[in-house]
Amino acid sequence: MCSTRGFRPHTIGAVCLDLSFPPASASLCRTAADFIGIQDRYDKVGFPSAAKLWQFSLMTAIQLTQELVRINTINPPGDEHACARYLGKYLEDHGFSVALHEFAENRTNVVARLEGSDDELPLCFTGHIDTVPLGAAPWSCDPFAGDMDGDKLFGRGTTDMKAGVAAFVVAAVQISSAKRPKAGLELVITAGEETGCEGAAYLAKKANLLAKTGAIVVGEPTSNYPLVGHKGAYWLYLVSRGITAHGSMPDKGDNAVHKAARAVGKLAEFSWKACRHPMLGEPTLNVGTIQGGMNLNSVPDKAVIGIDIRTVPGQQHSQIREELTELLGDEIELEEIVAVEGIWSDPDGDWVQRVYGIAENILGEKPEPRGATYFTDGPTLAKACGDPPTLIIGPGEAAMAHQTDEYCSVERLEQAVEFYQRIAQDWCKV
Ligand SMILES: [Zn+2]
Repeated sequence: MCSTRGFRPHTIGAVCLDLSFPPASASLCRTAADFIGIQDRYDKVGFPSAAKLWQFSLMTAIQLTQELVRINTINPPGDEHACARYLGKYLEDHGFSVALHEFAENRTNVVARLEGSDDELPLCFTGHIDTVPLGAAPWSCDPFAGDMDGDKLFGRGTTDMKAGVAAFVVAAVQISSAKRPKAGLELVITAGEETGCEGAAYLAKKANLLAKTGAIVVGEPTSNYPLVGHKGAYWLYLVSRGITAHGSMPDKGDNAVHKAARAVGKLAEFSWKACRHPMLGEPTLNVGTIQGGMNLNSVPDKAVIGIDIRTVPGQQHSQIREELTELLGDEIELEEIVAVEGIWSDPDGDWVQRVYGIAENILGEKPEPRGATYFTDGPTLAKACGDPPTLIIGPGEAAMAHQTDEYCSVERLEQAVEFYQRIAQDWCKV
């Protein structure tokens, strides 16, 4: 039995049973990260896999958020493996079938399933576990401690979106402990969302990793207000090439910056061909970066322009690419950086209306159709799961995402657990 002397007060959610490790190892049993370390050693010494060293007790969403925040998953580089394993183990211990899928070393997604008794499509909850970097400004609290002050739970990734992941995991575990649901649950916990939905794209691309689902809830920050869609993001590098020469003899070279400048001029005049979404408005195009030339006294042989296009649902990336190629001509090469489509679910659809009804009860107001200002894994996953209606609902606040001293409201976090539970009860018929 593992001594609890080494536990920090906040780790009361993790307990160990039947630990027959040498005494020296017992003092290591402290945090989520320690758990992973012990599990790794356990794997190495070759104990039978059926032996259960660890059993997680039920955690509250606050405790689980704290544990997730304590595992650094800043992206880049990402390194979501320990966090994914931690969640995978927790869900496995509570009746879910769990599979971990890596799209690169230590870039790990989790897909966890709870089977339903009937032949109905499952409900999917999804969220990402990577976070953005801390930024240059100093934090006034430890970004990896999960400290609380009143209603605020601080830490990198609390709002965006470890609190959302913790809330739906806690809600799902509560569903799994009730009688067998009629419809199942599928939890898709992704890596690499912040740098362009890499984890979701991997899951979507590989056959049979994702099930067909009836509806999707994306736990990104909305202060628990259900949002029905968002624009897509299409980020490109536009590359011009030339021939370098001495700066005193520009006629001997071919100036790549001149080509880039011509391209920027054309982009400034660019207008979209008749595509306006009634709620999300028009697509936009922003020239965000321009880089070219190595030194002032040479003819530059390469320049790169970075553009950020926000698309509306239904706009095809291939069509945009064609339009840009036609506009910019053959002196510009297009390099895709991020390609996430927009999404919009019918606000009058049956499931959305049912969720609106639950929201009215929980939030005290009837939601109206609104979209998010950011993009999510939602469209990528939805496309691979049979295009079900998709809502974005999460306890974080959008304005707090990526901020110094990021925090999530504890009240919102607990409200999200209730909201998710009721959505799951409604769908899974438990
Ligand atoms: Zn996010």
